[in-house]
Amino acid sequence: MSEDTRKRLGIVCEHTDAIRTRLGGVHSGPALLDAVFECARRGQDLTEPLNTLHKSLSALGDTRGLLGFSSDDRYTGSRDLHVAGAGALRPSDDSYECPQGRCSRVWEPNPSEEPPTCSFDDRPLHLKQRR
Ligand SMILES: [Zn+2]
Repeated sequence: MSEDTRKRLGIVCEHTDAIRTRLGGVHSGPALLDAVFECARRGQDLTEPLNTLHKSLSALGDTRGLLGFSSDDRYTGSRDLHVAGAGALRPSDDSYECPQGRCSRVWEPNPSEEPPTCSFDDRPLHLKQRR
């Protein structure tokens, strides 16, 4: 699976509800999302269904399509603010990742929240310790 596909899959995993809501007004829109999940379940190539989903979202007005749901922008912004802590991009050495490593979703531990559940296999993201 290409990096691009993993990244798009990570966005779908993290923002399933928001994407489904956005597609709600489109005839057969939710089916596009279901197709991605179906292919993931069967272990099939996800490039095509992700492309279709991406294009449909782009057609709805956000030219960035799937990438418009990504939270990457937020991280870029806050990184710029922490000039004093330059180099310390992450508050912790630990991160949670997709249970099967299928998508590129990463969640930073937050004491006030439970780890989120992967949209693709209904299991919580699991802790990966880095050193
Ligand atoms: Zn996932």
